[in-house]
Amino acid sequence: MNDPLILVVEDDKAVRNLITTTLKTHDYRFLTAATAGEALLESTSHNPDVMLLDLGLPDMDGVEVIRRVRSWSNLPIIISARSEDTDKIEALDAGADDYLTKPFSVEEVLARLRVTQRRLALLGRDGASPVFRNGELEIDYAAGVARL
Ligand code: CA
Repeated sequence: MNDPLILVVEDDKAVRNLITTTLKTHDYRFLTAATAGEALLESTSHNPDVMLLDLGLPDMDGVEVIRRVRSWSNLPIIISARSEDTDKIEALDAGADDYLTKPFSVEEVLARLRVTQRRLALLGRDGASPVFRNGELEIDYAAGVARL
């Protein structure tokens, strides 16, 4: 788990920049997405180690993003939501692993990532092999093979 790849999904540019600057400073690799559509595309094409997911996205409910990702991957998902967002519970039930309450500090983001990395190390997820399936298409990330 050296240099884990984090997918940062956030439509607020200022918040996104704050997170990516923090990740860069702490030697994490990252990808960004400003919409749910981009998030799903990036997660299927790059198979990140962790997804930081803003629940309030312009094009799709964040909970739906979690459901779609969970249909093919156990990728850890840390959601971020305002304290008054009731869908935080729904998101956790849909398969989110942890959450950040907005506004959060960068230290808290880093702490949540460390927690997630420790869990992954315990689970030995490095040996897991997520397989993405969409109709006839199948992508086996561990084997580096795509089948149709
Ligand atoms: Ca948002």
